[in-house]
Amino acid sequence: MVVADQADAAAVIAAAKEASQTWGRSSITTRAKVMFRFRELLEAKKDELAAIITREHGKVHSDALGEIARGLEVVEFACGIPHLLKGGYSESVSTGVDVHSIRQPLGVVGVISPFNFPAMVPMWFFPVAIACGNTVVLKPSEKDPSASIWIARLWQEAGLPDGVFNVLQGDKVAVDALLQSPDVAAISFVGSTPIAQYVYDQGTAAGKRVQALGGAKNHMLVLPDADLDAVANAAVSAGYGSAGERCMAISVVVAVDPIGDELVARIADRTGGIKVGDGARGSDGPEADMGPLVTREHADKVLDYIRQGEQAGAKVVVDGRAPQVNGAEAGYWVGPTLFDHVSPDMSIYTEEIFGPVLSVVRVGSYREGLDLINANQYGNGTAIFTGDGAAARLFENEVQVGMVGINVPIPVPMAYYSFGGWKRSLFGDTHAHGTEGVHFFTRGKVVTSRWGDPAARRSQGIDLGFP
Ligand code: NAD
Repeated sequence: MVVADQADAAAVIAAAKEASQTWGRSSITTRAKVMFRFRELLEAKKDELAAIITREHGKVHSDALGEIARGLEVVEFACGIPHLLKGGYSESVSTGVDVHSIRQPLGVVGVISPFNFPAMVPMWFFPVAIACGNTVVLKPSEKDPSASIWIARLWQEAGLPDGVFNVLQGDKVAVDALLQSPDVAAISFVGSTPIAQYVYDQGTAAGKRVQALGGAKNHMLVLPDADLDAVANAAVSAGYGSAGERCMAISVVVAVDPIGDELVARIADRTGGIKVGDGARGSDGPEADMGPLVTREHADKVLDYIRQGEQAGAKVVVDGRAPQVNGAEAGYWVGPTLFDHVSPDMSIYTEEIFGPVLSVVRVGSYREGLDLINANQYGNGTAIFTGDGAAARLFENEVQVGMVGINVPIPVPMAYYSFGGWKRSLFGDTHAHGTEGVHFFTRGKVVTSRWGDPAARRSQGIDLGFP
């Protein structure tokens, strides 16, 4: 892969700027039509894209299709742009005076994405940005850059004019070029918290609009009245799906006494059935449930966290350090790992591991569990499992987290709602997609106009009073 230098970045931004002159003035119908064509092509060819994701990222094919499906929902949302961009109109706010509001595109916007969702995360932003009349420079993760190129070709096939959707392959140099360019009006970033904070600080200091989504440590609070089989299934699915490389993965199960022993046993029991292996298998054999981690470096980091947890005194109930795999021996494999009796001072609790490692923390009450979640630096997603509606309602109200599940372990909002966390999981005040996305990618304007009655036309008199 060629990594962009500053001159490459400048050339891509210039192409996006030039295209924004015409795209920003194109009719809403034109934009909606291209969006519909893109949606049809993506639906028809999604298997190709999923194969690319599996090959580079490692997640299994069905999981890659899952992320494309969630991205497609945002494309479908953006197909409704004629309705979404409708403004307000107030007739006769004063004699002969009307007021209306419009929303206009920003120009060139940058999208900087992480490795774990090479299709879905960019699709949280670019469909809405393009539908709103902006041009986009996507800087994908250097760890799985090919999905973005495939998407660019699809846009071409859908009839999007050149320069409206651009891909800038690169690393920090490319990111810094986007942050510093006066021609880039806004940045949508998703990645780890330290980089999200950096992007937010640099981007806003340069006068840009920035939404920067960061890391996570998602807790699942389990009350004693919950259905423990359903809880164990949910914890395994949400903890080990995509090998834990999801910003909405559950990484901490908070078990309220006295269910800890029983819940840990049921989760451990289910981990035995998880097949770890080559995510591309399927046509020539049974598909794996969980693929490898993205890089050797990342797998080593996850293995080191497991070692730290063991040394700190957490109980290793399921050890994923030497998993049985159906795939290349040299793969970056880490199997499902389950820790019990984890305490909040251990690094496996305080850090985002981003691997298939689930920690169980025992607490004495709902209140203790809630306080634990609210004290965490992250606030991306969380879930409560209970049969008690009043407890669930209290949790929904009291928890300091942006996305909340009630008997739902991964509460990813639908495209017409907005996605985003609280605290150090999001810098900025606008979440992704939904009406917040439309708001982020447009600027509002309010027009006050006076047209006198043609039958009684006369010039306005002078009036120095405040209007
Ligand atoms: P990352 O922060 O390493 O990289 C994200 C992007 O920033 C990439 O495009 C990368 O090239 C760029 N980047 C990396 N280092 C940089 C630097 N020093 N200066 C400028 N740019 C830099 O994240 P990752 O490892 O690719 O992705 C995993 C992280 O993303 C996890 O923390 C995960 O929780 C987070 N994530 C969050 C969400 C969310 O919605 N909150 C969604 C997906 C992933």
